[in-house]
Amino acid sequence: MPTLTAGAPRAVKAPSGTHTMRALIKHHAGTELQLVADRPVPACGPRDVLVKVAKVGICGTDRHIWEWDAWAASRIPVGIVTGHEFVGTIEKIGSAVTKHAPGLRVSAEGHTTQWKDYNSRTGNAHIALDTKIIGIDRDGCFAEYVCVPEENVWPVHASIPDKVAAVLDPLGNAVHTVMAANVSAKSVLVTGTGIIGLMAVTVAKAAGASRIFATDIDPKRRALAKKLGASEAFDPRDDRWIAEIRKACRGEGADVLLEMSGAEPALTQGLSALRNGGTAALLGLFKGPIRLDMNDLVIFKGCTVLGINGRKMFETWFQMEELLLSGRLELDDIITHEFPIEQFKKAHETMISGEGIKVVMAL
Ligand code: ZN
Repeated sequence: MPTLTAGAPRAVKAPSGTHTMRALIKHHAGTELQLVADRPVPACGPRDVLVKVAKVGICGTDRHIWEWDAWAASRIPVGIVTGHEFVGTIEKIGSAVTKHAPGLRVSAEGHTTQWKDYNSRTGNAHIALDTKIIGIDRDGCFAEYVCVPEENVWPVHASIPDKVAAVLDPLGNAVHTVMAANVSAKSVLVTGTGIIGLMAVTVAKAAGASRIFATDIDPKRRALAKKLGASEAFDPRDDRWIAEIRKACRGEGADVLLEMSGAEPALTQGLSALRNGGTAALLGLFKGPIRLDMNDLVIFKGCTVLGINGRKMFETWFQMEELLLSGRLELDDIITHEFPIEQFKKAHETMISGEGIKVVMAL
């Protein structure tokens, strides 16, 4: 199990006179979180900024941490402040910070790196070897204050409301996946319309996909996918939909697959519905190793399979801002609930039960 990052800003012990804050922490190796009022405000390093948090988004990852499944137990240090999706205002800057000043409304890329390895120095910092994620490997944003490196700060455009700015992290996952697959004037299949799958539908529409198909076992999500721009949404438990998609797409299959479910059968179905030479961008995380007919579904098909992780720093953020400012993204039906952080239990339960889709909490 990784320990908290050496050198990462984290509150350990409040020296006398240090301010404290409200924070949601993983207080023990088990389910739920605890809201405490006496967490020391994080001490910033010279190249960090301290952000006063306004709103945060609850992610599927936070659900794993809440439920304390095998992944969370193997990765999350007990005692950590959770949360990685936020918007807030810079309160204080470290002594070596040059790019940003207090008062700026910001979100931040949650993947931090020391910018030393090959990928972080060649435009792919989102897959740096030393990536530490806020709210997972180091203290996160479900708190009144969060500390992030200056390089990770994203100034939020004035016309983007707080509730949207709080969920730029998952929206960026959707934008990264859609952009990597190059969907313009192509037929697109989205398997799994959870939060990011639904976001991918509206992003793909905005990015010029000619037709969008979706699958999900939940009829409410299928209906919403259609409202957001899918021409058809199928229940994947009846796999006759694969033939329907092939028929609709020149008898060959969809040009692009965006796999968002992390369900083993969905990948097989999705690749079966993809045309030869198509592109599959995979974002959904599987529970563990999976079985896949590589011969028929990848090799003979001649398709391109892309693994998608995080957001490109910061190409995805610029694309996301352009798409938001274009007015073409429909997020109102995706961001369904907002609670004060005191109601964190209800907020998490609303998301976990499926009653809510994206749930935001206000500090
Ligand atoms: Zn997230």
